[in-house]
Amino acid sequence: MEKIFCKKCKKEIDAEEYIRNLKVCSYCNFHDYMSARERLQITVDEGSFKEFAVEINSVDSLNFYDVKAYKDRLAEAKIKSGLNEAIITGEARLAGNKVSIGVMDFNFMGGSMGSVVGERIKILADNSIANKEPLIIFAASGGARMQEGILSLMQMAKTVSCINRINEAKIPYFCVITNPTTGGVSASFSTVADIILSEPGALFCFAGPRVVEQTIKKSVPADFGLADRNLKNGQIDMIVNRREVKPTLEKLLRLFT
Ligand SMILES: [Zn+2]
Repeated sequence: MEKIFCKKCKKEIDAEEYIRNLKVCSYCNFHDYMSARERLQITVDEGSFKEFAVEINSVDSLNFYDVKAYKDRLAEAKIKSGLNEAIITGEARLAGNKVSIGVMDFNFMGGSMGSVVGERIKILADNSIANKEPLIIFAASGGARMQEGILSLMQMAKTVSCINRINEAKIPYFCVITNPTTGGVSASFSTVADIILSEPGALFCFAGPRVVEQTIKKSVPADFGLADRNLKNGQIDMIVNRREVKPTLEKLLRLFT
């Protein structure tokens, strides 16, 4: 039998059990990464997902090069993640309820938000408003996509203004924070949801603890930016185990619609 090791408690887990347990460690409840496709599979009703905006692809408008060309990074990310961008957007049913849903994938350039992520969220919000469907977004991001310079930072304002329109249309918007959600995504659309759910132990902050420590030359608490502390400080509304995310969203949809 194939074995894997928990990234947190390092205990050995049977691979099949680990998959059955939705990539959660049965010893320490560590929630491992999930791809956007896996996430959709455990969240929406089978066969109900219709993807849109899939034809919109990132372009290298700055001809950007750090240690590697942005064009090459994009090509590699596509192979690595099996996606063509860091978010999948579409329409689906969740326990029978029609929803507009977006799921970010950390495997695609660290879930970074560039122009295409912003545009797909805009299209998602437009669909949500046009069809009066609740909006659900699963966040997972290292922040803005630096290879797109200022264009990536503009997505913060763009996505927040989309959520403002959702609010004006009185449509509920729920965001699920997964590990990690930082930088420009934590500072934009993910923070302005009606209800913010978080998976246990998920890091959700603007700058990560190491960056903050290097900047202020002081150490930060061990639980800095983590779900328990965020809940205590009112940054999130509830911590939900992976297995309970779908039933919780279902309950919220019932309450809000
Ligand atoms: Zn563990």
